[in-house]
Amino acid sequence: MHESVLIANRGEIACRIIRSARRLGMRTIAVHSEADRNALHVRLADEAQLIGPAPARDSYLRGDIILEAARATRAACIHPGYGFLSENAAFAECCAAAKIIFVGPPPAAIRAMGLKDGAKALMQKAGVPVVRGYHGPNQEVKFLKEKAYEIGYPVLVKAVAGGGGKGMRRVDAHADFEEALAAAQREGLSAFGNAHVLIEKYIASPRHIEMQVFGDAHGNYVHLFERDCSLQRRHQKVIEEAPAPGMTDEMRAAMGQAAVEAARAVGYQGAGTVEFIVDGGRGLRADGFFFMEMNTRLQVEHPVTEAITGLDLVEWQFLVAAGEKLPLAQADLRINGHAVEARLYAEDPENGFLPSTGDLRMLQLPFGEGIRVDAGVKEGDSVTPFYDPMIAKIIAHGANRDEALERLQVALRQTLVAGPRCNARFLRALCQAPGFRAGDFDTGFIERNLEALGAVPHALDTRALAIGAAVVWHKTQHANEKKGYLQGRLLASPWADKDSFQMGPPRHTVLPLLADGARVDVSVVNQAGMIDVTVVAGGAHRFSIDSRVFLEELPDATVAGPFVIRDYRQTEVSLFDPLTVDATHEAGGDGAVVSPMHGRIVAVLVNVGDAVAKGQKLALIEAMKMEHALVAPFAGSVTEVLAQAGAQVAQGARIVAIAAQ
Ligand code: ADP
Ligand code: ADP
Ligand code: MG
Repeated sequence: MHESVLIANRGEIACRIIRSARRLGMRTIAVHSEADRNALHVRLADEAQLIGPAPARDSYLRGDIILEAARATRAACIHPGYGFLSENAAFAECCAAAKIIFVGPPPAAIRAMGLKDGAKALMQKAGVPVVRGYHGPNQEVKFLKEKAYEIGYPVLVKAVAGGGGKGMRRVDAHADFEEALAAAQREGLSAFGNAHVLIEKYIASPRHIEMQVFGDAHGNYVHLFERDCSLQRRHQKVIEEAPAPGMTDEMRAAMGQAAVEAARAVGYQGAGTVEFIVDGGRGLRADGFFFMEMNTRLQVEHPVTEAITGLDLVEWQFLVAAGEKLPLAQADLRINGHAVEARLYAEDPENGFLPSTGDLRMLQLPFGEGIRVDAGVKEGDSVTPFYDPMIAKIIAHGANRDEALERLQVALRQTLVAGPRCNARFLRALCQAPGFRAGDFDTGFIERNLEALGAVPHALDTRALAIGAAVVWHKTQHANEKKGYLQGRLLASPWADKDSFQMGPPRHTVLPLLADGARVDVSVVNQAGMIDVTVVAGGAHRFSIDSRVFLEELPDATVAGPFVIRDYRQTEVSLFDPLTVDATHEAGGDGAVVSPMHGRIVAVLVNVGDAVAKGQKLALIEAMKMEHALVAPFAGSVTEVLAQAGAQVAQGARIVAIAAQ
């Protein structure tokens, strides 16, 4: 084992790697951007090096600066985690040139698997089944269109350099081919600098099943069984599990064999994942799986494999990087029980899964038998707009699938996030969904069930608003004790201060509030320790709140700062202050369309003077992992374009103005 490791990553995976490295007695060195000065991975590591400003391309993607940090700290090896530089062959080569071990496969293996077309050609040669399609060099539109017709619709157009579900378009009809091709090429070029595409048959009822593989420098290869990652949204994984529901021994053996052959074909070393697409409509059969791609790194969902094998994959990575043999042979590996992982994201499922940023005013993560949590943040940290919005991964292990899912469900119920919005409620609904429970699902499951999963807009929670109103009211009555609320739930609640209540004739106050960004007035009457709040929103609602109990101890809600969490949903309630509320907070009004989040403008799609229809896309914004379209709130003409492609914009920034027609 090497003496020290520099972790060229951040967030939960950096924390995860540091934990294993420390257990193995290695000195750990973190790198961080200016935005991550106080991040958990920096606090956990023995040493830390600042590598640049917040944007990843100026920090976590700067291989040269990271190598400099490795030299300065005399790091013996660099672990790239996933994302960032993990599949960058040039970086791996630079490490070799600098005599620093790259904890990953040889650069040639990364390169061989880097582009989907080349990888598929290679796999075909190695006898690994691939999806029927065209993955050659000819990129003429007419030619590709003919190929699509020959393959038979639906087909998938994939940018060969794509990743993270980007650069892919499904085409159902011949007439739609050109448009989809252009879109895939554009995305491939803008996100990966490569417009080349391949065409393949779209598999009906697709299930994503991948095999974890490992190789060492001595020519040994094993697979560590499969993971089912079919629960996806926009081709991105949401819940992963191992083993795959319905997997047979025969199919597992065939897939494992194919995955090992794939690894062998490129002289693979270390941890890798071979992704297959399976036609779920025909059931899981030994001849019904096809190679999609190989990810030449540790995968986000590796903990489910760790849970069912009892192994530490990061430890294995370090062993292989140190030139040692794989600790176990295929015959020694066994599956123990079932594991499932849910990705807890700072995003808003009720609002198109828009990423959400902000300070984590409250973060309660679950614990208990069979539960593992890999987090990159703690309460009090913040989710910034610069990186992936993942808060934590929650992994549940049980004797069988039912027990694992039951444990995950309980764990999700214990999970509480205040500040950024999060997908815990959505994950719980998913975990409970009958189709998923029955193991009867494919990659379209989430999209088909959005409504049943609660991922649609909800009306304002008036009870939560009333509780928030009581908090605001109390704050205005006891301005001196404001601190108690601002500093969070750990301080003694002012509610406990019974002396400060005035017993007298009931007082009636009208409070102007801002509830989830919308102006709402409520009326408050305080009488003998009971606060009556009347909310006039979608009809009059009256709530009585006992002011003699700690607000933090209300049976049906949790309060953290301006946030009220009730039934796992967050409502933000604050006093309406006309001076701090930007009139352009919401689209509509004066026709200004504003950015709903911090992000980067990918494209502005209209010019001044253009006529636009209601719902027409005006601009594309990228924040964290997601692209979001700004659309016209009504028909009209564009009067102003206030942002340009490439610009970084703040939440609430005006992007385009439209005048109604
Ligand atoms: P990426 O590099 O973006 O991960 P993949 O090739 O792994 O791209 O595909 C991402 C996802 O798209 C898969 O997990 C699967 O859900 C879906 N997909 C890919 N290829 C096919 C196909 N031929 N038929 C149906 N779905 C597919
Ligand atoms: P064990 O506890 O038996 O080591 P686990 O499967 O729980 O095995 O964890 C595997 C590896 O993941 C261990 O090296 C452990 O340090 C690391 N790990 C466990 N929990 C966390 C966590 N909350 N955050 C990051 N890493 C973790
Ligand atoms: Mg993939």
